[in-house]
Amino acid sequence: MAFTAKIVGIPHIPTIKDVNIRTEPKKSGTLLFKAPVGTGGLSVVEVKPDAENQAQAGKVFQWFKLAFSDGQQGWCRDDLMEVQGDGKKFGYGNVAVSTLAFNLERAKAPAAAPAAVPVSAPPAAAAPTPAVAAQQADNAGPGMIICMSQGGANMRPGPGTTTGAPVFRIPYLAEAKILGTDKSRDPNDPFTWINIDFNGTKGWLREDFTRLKGNFEQFGVGFHDMYPSPAPESWWARDFNLNPNFNPVMHHGWDHSGKVGAPILAGPKGGKVIKVAMCQKCGPNGLSAVTDKGYGVSDGRVLQDPGWNYGYGHFVNVTYHHDKLPKSTQQKLAAQGKAGWHISVNYAHLHSIAVQPNQELAPNASIGTMGNSGNSTGAHLHLEVRAHQDPNNTNWPSMKSGLMSPVILFLR
Ligand SMILES: [Zn+2]
Repeated sequence: MAFTAKIVGIPHIPTIKDVNIRTEPKKSGTLLFKAPVGTGGLSVVEVKPDAENQAQAGKVFQWFKLAFSDGQQGWCRDDLMEVQGDGKKFGYGNVAVSTLAFNLERAKAPAAAPAAVPVSAPPAAAAPTPAVAAQQADNAGPGMIICMSQGGANMRPGPGTTTGAPVFRIPYLAEAKILGTDKSRDPNDPFTWINIDFNGTKGWLREDFTRLKGNFEQFGVGFHDMYPSPAPESWWARDFNLNPNFNPVMHHGWDHSGKVGAPILAGPKGGKVIKVAMCQKCGPNGLSAVTDKGYGVSDGRVLQDPGWNYGYGHFVNVTYHHDKLPKSTQQKLAAQGKAGWHISVNYAHLHSIAVQPNQELAPNASIGTMGNSGNSTGAHLHLEVRAHQDPNNTNWPSMKSGLMSPVILFLR
């Protein structure tokens, strides 16, 4: 049977009605046209790994050059399409049932005509997502910040939001050189302010609006061995806060915002799933759960209801054993009188869950996807961290006294 493709979009996001077909096998390739979800019977002309090495859950995307019925040909990413039939020529086997192409493993060398077919991407474990790679491996070059505020962020003339009118608004994902830092301004302000140079424009930015790359350790804003953001495709939303003098609204974790379905990844050395909790009242797809049911945000009827998982929605708890923690985290724990303690993490408001209780996770394994379940009004990951002494403790509420800022373990 011929190897054919069908456009399926993102099945758990039914509002997506078509997908982008591009001139090249990469997301930045020019948009040729949009192909409606459901278009099938498309011949596969060629398959190539993502030209920018883009990956999800450590697996590099493959792109398929497809022939459409009007004679046009263009590239579609493998997470948006199913394939079926004899794919040996392209490094796949014989696919009996129409299957999401991303879920198939592509052989390194195709069974036939090896010289004519491009070599596939390296195996999944060797290919971390770009964000993981940026934070874990790229410690060469000058210390840089990447702006993680979705609408851009104001650079101030001095450290602190009240030092004067913004000098410039640095765009989302723009990079700027770190010149120095200041964390001494206001005893109630928990943030380090970072002095940056963006293409010659100098100003100050609050640390939580940034991710870090290059040689940043010298500025005291983080350590290279810390875990990267578990939500590589996200932007910064909200910090940990237990100080009513700084902000009267308490927040027991970090919020990373993004799109429903964005990947959520385990730590770089793996961990153990200790609890998987589906939310009974969030509905089958867990979308817009609270507001759909007529509650406001942080309504006591949600936060006190086990049916809503006390507001966490669909969530997963993972324990990271002390031995697997970064050296910098071990030292920070010891400095707090918690030498040898373990860390458990709650990944909350998920859309889908890809793990099971007691599962030992591979490094950077997919935990699930970002969602809007529980006490949430927009897709985000709520990341909550608790330290405890018993590595076999699976009772998340019992760890409450060990609540701490995710900065003990995670880079933003
Ligand atoms: Zn939160």
